[in-house]
Amino acid sequence: MKAFESAQLYFNRAADHIDLTENMRRLLIVPKREVQVQVAIERDNGEISTFIGYRVQHDDARGPMKGGLRYHPDVDLDEVRSLAALMTWKTAVVDLPYGGAKGGLAIDPTQFSSRELELITRRFVDGIHDVIGPDIDIPAPDMGTNAEVMAWVMNQYAKYHGFSPACVTGKPVELHGLPGREEATGRGVGILTYKMLSRMARKPDDTRIAIQGFGNVGSHTAKFIHEAGYRLVAVSDFSGGYYRPEGLDVPGVLRYSLEHKGSLAGYTEAQPITNAELLALDVDVLIPAALGGVITHANADSVRAKIIIEAANSPVYPDADEMLTERGVTILPDILANAGGVTASYFEWVQNRQRYRWDLNRVRQELDHVLTRSFERVWELSIERKLSLRTAAYIVGIGRVGQATVLGGLS
Ligand code: NAD
Repeated sequence: MKAFESAQLYFNRAADHIDLTENMRRLLIVPKREVQVQVAIERDNGEISTFIGYRVQHDDARGPMKGGLRYHPDVDLDEVRSLAALMTWKTAVVDLPYGGAKGGLAIDPTQFSSRELELITRRFVDGIHDVIGPDIDIPAPDMGTNAEVMAWVMNQYAKYHGFSPACVTGKPVELHGLPGREEATGRGVGILTYKMLSRMARKPDDTRIAIQGFGNVGSHTAKFIHEAGYRLVAVSDFSGGYYRPEGLDVPGVLRYSLEHKGSLAGYTEAQPITNAELLALDVDVLIPAALGGVITHANADSVRAKIIIEAANSPVYPDADEMLTERGVTILPDILANAGGVTASYFEWVQNRQRYRWDLNRVRQELDHVLTRSFERVWELSIERKLSLRTAAYIVGIGRVGQATVLGGLS
């Protein structure tokens, strides 16, 4: 199943519960604008390479569109379109004054020098600068991009439009970024995992957790859940998985990753396993925090965790979602689980527009407040109407976007 088709299935499932009209469904599903641009650079060896850059702007009924920039070989228009739609529902679930967008390039950033990545980013901004901006569409980091890339976006955008730090979020703290933005998605995953497990009366020291992906989101999630007292027994990244049934030495794994440019390759203090084995481990909670589509009908039966927290975007495809839900697995959906990142991005955008610096404590407190409020709303709705958390979250998101669309007027 293609990524956008899968996003639509979740949308339609929730839309059926609120009797959304066909007209409104069409209006809310079809993206507002899709842009493809050629990105050409001279490589360090003198060769010319060309790539396609995508930006999909899905919906702006609730405000300027917001969404990450992904650099990963699997990026294509369909994937970007599905991720843009997810951003629309995500910003609405946590009630931020934004719509949804996403962008990316089908490149493996590890295969380019820093100079080449900078050139790629700047040429991409050359192609899209007139359709992004603080009141139009605000990019942010996602897989394969980071604060440095966001600094290049800000700098290149300024060449056309003048000083405008609110045109992009996830910037370095030293360059109009927000303290706590980098940790925010993983911290948010941790906060929500804690809230949900508390509601399910699970004690931290009895709870074994596995995380797939040890990049920005996975590593900060690991740090938070370790500090909260849970037992992290396995982690993985592109190099494979690392399993220690009695619990990993989390500070040690974090240190190892830091010392090896974000990679766990060669980590020997745990048993090596494959990524497929990690997904099937006998754990209480599974946190996919890398790619989309890692749990499908092909491997859903092998998943033994009773709780899945979707830290990545679209890690569980709809056919697998149905199989798991029928088996009583509780899934905290991506549009809520990883919304900490966009929430902190919103704080950064506010900070940039206020020209007033927020400190880390304030960021953490407000992040906790927004995520707790959103979690309670979705949890209560799911109990009240006997729905999965995913359907409840979509109902909250679609309801808010639909309402804004009607209030804004359609003529
Ligand atoms: P990242 O690039 O920092 O890290 C990705 C991690 O996944 C790395 O550890 C990488 O080694 C690993 N990985 C890559 N291929 C893999 C494979 N085949 N199997 C297992 N692991 C693999 O990316 P990130 O920012 O941490 O994003 C991870 C996920 O979280 C993505 O789905 C992204 O869309 C989502 N997300 C990120 C943010 C954010 O603020 N960064 C916000 C919301 C959602």
